[in-house]
Amino acid sequence: METHASAAEETARRRGELAANLAAVQARIAAACTAAGRPREDVTLVVVTKTHPAGDVRLLAELGVRDVGENRDQEAAPKAAATADLDLTWHYVGRLQTNKAKSVAGYADVVHSLDRVRLAAALSSAAEREQRTITALLQVSLDGDPSRGGVLPADVAELADAVADSPHLTLGGVMAVAPLGVEPAGPFATLREIASRLREAHPAATMVSAGMSNDLEAAIEAGATHVRIGTAVLGVRPSLR
Ligand SMILES: *Cc1c(COP(=O)(O)O)cnc(C)c1O
Repeated sequence: METHASAAEETARRRGELAANLAAVQARIAAACTAAGRPREDVTLVVVTKTHPAGDVRLLAELGVRDVGENRDQEAAPKAAATADLDLTWHYVGRLQTNKAKSVAGYADVVHSLDRVRLAAALSSAAEREQRTITALLQVSLDGDPSRGGVLPADVAELADAVADSPHLTLGGVMAVAPLGVEPAGPFATLREIASRLREAHPAATMVSAGMSNDLEAAIEAGATHVRIGTAVLGVRPSLR
């Protein structure tokens, strides 16, 4: 029988893997910023750790990651609790049901997926109970199919006003996921226009969350301030059972 690697050896191996992947992603972000004529500090890397264990979050923090993202509350809540000793900013990037607002408000600093007025109300009162303020990004639907999440571009202004009027939310900006099967440059250009229109009414709402492992360059070219990267840092996700 083969001897198993010790836990310490396995941790060291995983740390090396994450460090190499992180360096590659940082190099891609830096190159994309240079190509777009933007300063590197314009873009924040949010590492999306969904399906990967809290131990990976700990290793990432040791490697200098400060912003982590999750897309399911059932998974995020225990992971955030298990790493509460770390100085991390938690980003909730997935679909959010109003009945989960209370739990998400317990750990999320930024919610990227605010897409309806009712959710703004639920999240604001949940944040009030936690005595905190949550930064909310308006998730915009770029494929016109709201069943995939996101507010239609025509309804952004009204939702923005609702968030801005919510006492325990700060309107941070916009977020989008590129539609499947099309070149992302077009949709990201649309998002950039929506973001710029939003800033006319809400000048402090400067965040643009766009770009994932496969399209971060196009997102940075189109003005993204936050890229949400999972696979390129953590590897392929174990399939959900
Ligand atoms: C999983 C996820 C990401 C990261 O996707 P990768 O392709 O693995 O980089 C980004 N944004 C959202 C909303 C996600 O659910």
